[in-house]
Amino acid sequence: MEFNRCILVKRSTDLNAVKVAEQRQQMTLHCRQCNTILGDSCGICGEIMDSVMCLRVTDDVIVSDVMQPGHKGELRSCIYSSLKCQACGCAVGKVIHSAPSHLAAVRSIFLLHKANISCYILSSSSVVKASTLSFNLKPLKENIHEVGQQLEVLLETLMLRESRITDTSVNSELSK
Ligand SMILES: [Zn+2]
Repeated sequence: MEFNRCILVKRSTDLNAVKVAEQRQQMTLHCRQCNTILGDSCGICGEIMDSVMCLRVTDDVIVSDVMQPGHKGELRSCIYSSLKCQACGCAVGKVIHSAPSHLAAVRSIFLLHKANISCYILSSSSVVKASTLSFNLKPLKENIHEVGQQLEVLLETLMLRESRITDTSVNSELSK
């Protein structure tokens, strides 16, 4: 039983660490030039091409009507529109409408260019350049693997308890 308690304590400590990490990442994204809020950590889904990937942004992000074809670099064979800050007109990133299969994950995702974004970190009440932070998320495969390991530990604990209950009932039958 002692051994199992150790595992359970360790697991709950791990979960607390994850919660702390999540809290640390709570932030709002701002235009570096005028500080207008352009998005927040709830909409962030990763990082690619020196840009923060956002599922949603605020109404202060204006999507250009002009669709541009990418001719070189990572944007080759992509069709994209530029994003501007409504308040100051500064270019803040782009949204890719069409992309080859290796960039399928960024289709219709708002890409806020890290060099033009600052972040207000809620837990520390501090403003930092987005370029100093990493927005990479753990791959889904890793998360699934972690959940799988937690379920295995839970299953072992349940099986051990079940065998003890069976032992106890057999012993009490014998003692009758
Ligand atoms: Zn601005």
